[in-house]
Amino acid sequence: MTATPPDPPSEPPPPPAPRPSDGGPAFGSAAPPPIPDATPADAPPDTHFRRHDTEATRTYPCDACGGELHFDIDAQLLKCAHCGTTRELREVGGTVEERDLREALELVRAGAVTRTAQFLDDEKEIVCQNCGGHTTFTGSLTATNCPYCATPIQRDDVHAAPERLPVDGVLPFTVSADEAKALIEKWINGRWFAPNEFKTYNRTGAFSSVYTAYFTYDADTFTLYTGRRGDNYTVTVGHGENRRTEVRTNWTPVRGSVRNNFDDITVFANDGFERGRVQKLEPWPTDDAQPYTAEYVAGHLCRTYDRDVEDCLSEATHAMEQTIRSTVRQDIGGDQQQIGSMDINWQRMTYKHLLLPMWLLTVIYMDRPFQVYINGVTGEVHGARPYSKAKIAAAIAVALVLLILIAVAVSAAGGG
Ligand SMILES: [Zn+2]
Ligand SMILES: [Zn+2]
Repeated sequence: MTATPPDPPSEPPPPPAPRPSDGGPAFGSAAPPPIPDATPADAPPDTHFRRHDTEATRTYPCDACGGELHFDIDAQLLKCAHCGTTRELREVGGTVEERDLREALELVRAGAVTRTAQFLDDEKEIVCQNCGGHTTFTGSLTATNCPYCATPIQRDDVHAAPERLPVDGVLPFTVSADEAKALIEKWINGRWFAPNEFKTYNRTGAFSSVYTAYFTYDADTFTLYTGRRGDNYTVTVGHGENRRTEVRTNWTPVRGSVRNNFDDITVFANDGFERGRVQKLEPWPTDDAQPYTAEYVAGHLCRTYDRDVEDCLSEATHAMEQTIRSTVRQDIGGDQQQIGSMDINWQRMTYKHLLLPMWLLTVIYMDRPFQVYINGVTGEVHGARPYSKAKIAAAIAVALVLLILIAVAVSAAGGG
C-alpha cells in the first residue's frame, strides 16, 4: 500500500523500534543473515526469528519524525507517510543481472535455495488462510484484507519470510494510487449491471499495490532440422466441360539449421490469479527494470512466487519452441512446409527473477472473489466482472412497464 490506502484508520505511526546494536546485517550488507533452520534445538532463541513477530519493526525510519518511509510513486522517492519528508533512494545503478539457469535449477532441485543478503531481515510474510496466497512486506502491514481474496488478515497469518530465490530486478510502480483509482472507476462505470459491491470496494474489497513475481528467460538456440518443402504447381486435367486446373504439390526433402536469440521471455510465477487476464497486461517494459533494492518495495505488498524457476521454464521453452518452429518454416521456404525433426541446442540460458507492479482490486460478490488487474506501469486494465442479477431484473421490469404503457397508449389512441 502507498501512503493512501482506501479509508485508512488515521492513527499516527507508533515510535520506531530501536534497531539492535549488534545488528542483523544492515541493508546492503554483504553478510547473509543466519538461517533459522540451522539453529540446534537447545540453542538460545533466535533473535532473528523473533524480530519478525513485531509489526513495530521499522525498515526505513524517517529522520525527521521516526515514522515509516515508503516508496512514493509520484515522487519516485522514499517518503514519510506521517510528515512528508522525502529521501533519495540509494543509488544501485547498473543493469539487472542475468543468472545462469542451470546453476539455479541445480539449487532448486537440491532444495538448496537459501536466503541472501538481498532480503531484509525484517521482511515478513502473510499466508492467507483462505486462498493460500503468500505475500511479503516490510515495516508495518497497511493492508487489512488479503489482496487476492479480500478475506480479513489475521495476525496469526504473519510469519517469517521463507527461503527462496533472490529477486534480481524490480520494475517500479509509475501509476500512482490516485491514477489507479481513476482507472478502476472508469472501468467499473463502463460495465453495465456491475453490482454495487464494486462501487463500494473501499469498504467491501481489497485494493492494493502488489509487486508480483515473474521469471524472464533468455536463450540462444541453434537448431538442426529435417523436413519437407512443398512447392505448388497447377495442372490442367479433364476434357471438354470437365476441363479444369488443380493445385498439386511437389515435395522435396530438406535439412538445415537456424539460430534464434530470445530476450526476456516473461512467465508469470503466481497462482491464485486469472492467468489469461494477467497475460493481457503484457507487454511489460522489462528493459526498464532496476536492480533490486527493497526500497522500491517499501510500503507495498510483494507476492512471493508460487511456481519456481523450474516450474515456469516449461512455459518459456514452449513459447520459444513455437518461435523456433516458425523460423524453421521460413528457412524451409516454398508454399508448404513439413517439419520432420528439430534438434534444439540450448546454448546460453539465463533467467531473471523480477518483481512487476500491479494494482489489484478484489471484490467479493455472491461469496466469490472477483479480481481486476492494472499494469502498474502502462495502466492497462483487465478484470473479471460479475453481473448484478438484481440490476438486470430491475432493468427488465422497467422495460416491461414501458412496453405495457406504450401498448396501452397505442390502444387508447386507436380506440379514440
Ligand atoms: Zn516523518
Ligand atoms: Zn486470500
